[in-house]
Amino acid sequence: MHMTNNGTNQLTPKKQEATKPAHSKFWVNAHQYFDRVFQTMNLDQTWRSVLSSPKRVLTVSCPVRMDDGRIQVFTGYRAQHNGARGPFKGGLRYDPSVSLDEVMALAMLQTWKNALVDLPFGGAKGGIVCDNKKLSVGERERLTRRYTSEVMPIIGPNQDIPAPDAGTDAQVMAWLLDTYSMMVGHQELGVVTGKPVVLGGSVGREEATGRGIMNVLRKFLATQNKTFTDIRVAVQGFGNVGFHTARLLDARGATVVAISAKEGGIYDESGIDIDAAGLYYKEQGVLTDFPGGDAITNEELLVCDCDVLIPAAMENTITEEVAPHIKARVVCEGANGPTTPKADELLGEMGVTVLPDILSNAGGVTVSYFEWVQGLDNYFWNLKRVQDELQRIMERAFDEVNAKADEAGCDYRTAAYTIAVGRVAEACRLKGLFP
Ligand code: NAD
Repeated sequence: MHMTNNGTNQLTPKKQEATKPAHSKFWVNAHQYFDRVFQTMNLDQTWRSVLSSPKRVLTVSCPVRMDDGRIQVFTGYRAQHNGARGPFKGGLRYDPSVSLDEVMALAMLQTWKNALVDLPFGGAKGGIVCDNKKLSVGERERLTRRYTSEVMPIIGPNQDIPAPDAGTDAQVMAWLLDTYSMMVGHQELGVVTGKPVVLGGSVGREEATGRGIMNVLRKFLATQNKTFTDIRVAVQGFGNVGFHTARLLDARGATVVAISAKEGGIYDESGIDIDAAGLYYKEQGVLTDFPGGDAITNEELLVCDCDVLIPAAMENTITEEVAPHIKARVVCEGANGPTTPKADELLGEMGVTVLPDILSNAGGVTVSYFEWVQGLDNYFWNLKRVQDELQRIMERAFDEVNAKADEAGCDYRTAAYTIAVGRVAEACRLKGLFP
């Protein structure tokens, strides 16, 4: 295990230039979004590198005894971006595509998201490079426990609080809780969110990201004098975020015309039976061959005939190649970083409204915040309180972004970043530098 600090040092730019490693497209995209807004903000330039550098990045090796007796070593990461506003908070992802650049970029996005919805958290992200679908339950558990023990020095209820992300769920969070608690000698509910409700999780956490997307989309539609019954929706990704988003919109009268998972999806212009598709996906692990619609590829889903497109799978799915062919008039980002900066520009020129990830998918971390508060208090809320408080926070965030976009004459992403980066910059300025 070794700890590195990936901050860039502006005092020696030439030396840095020569040795600087090439970064992934996603990392570059995340920094482009930040830079684009930072330049317009009239902020003291000395804070630029502080705001764009992760505070701490930990890389760990996790040797795991596999079911066949072999020992396999998995690589894991935890990146903590900026903690000026409070303990670090962010998801834990299990996927073959996980990389150091990806978790650093996602941790930065999480900092802006937490600030935008005004939660007292900094941003973090973790991940393990693994093919989730090929691990047995036992292998998954041993991997989670070993990873937890390796990142133990930097996580904790007042340090850094992981949560589910792509490829992880409440069961993984339960193992993380148990491992941490065994090592400190007492049950520590505040160390992780997205836990099962019987282990101190919050009611309403599982559907929270989808519910937050629904809240934000409803507010946006109201600005257009529309409701859910006026829209046809396509949702890419049918995991935690995609499924609950589709289910909640369908239940409120929207017509969900297309859904997809990694292997492909289905289209039905009269509307898909989301509950039946959910059951099918749970049992089969794929949507291909689901009888309630025509088979489509993920590329076809992105450009299908619909009013609202909700990318809820992975980053970089809406590229400059795809963007010109998108027919939806609204893109509501459920995934983190699904739209590349170039595609974002093209969509803007085409008059497509983009509701940015740091606003629209912030419902998950918001209910994670409620769960953390409940765990620290040992006092648990009912579902109505969770849903009402979530709606209040999501609507307030939308109103602030909408007002900023009106005032500055800019798109929603620029408005959201301006608010979020401004809040983090102000916290950094007030705290000053240590020592
Ligand atoms: P998940 O693992 O539950 O589901 C992911 C879904 O996307 C699956 O249906 C999978 O088949 C599909 N998918 C994966 N790669 C794909 C590809 N290349 N093309 C099309 N579909 C693909 O993950 P999740 O928790 O729903 O997270 C999805 C996205 O939302 C991620 O970007 C995650 O960071 C973001 N997010 C999640 C939460 C949360 O609370 N879980 C909160 C905020 C943001």
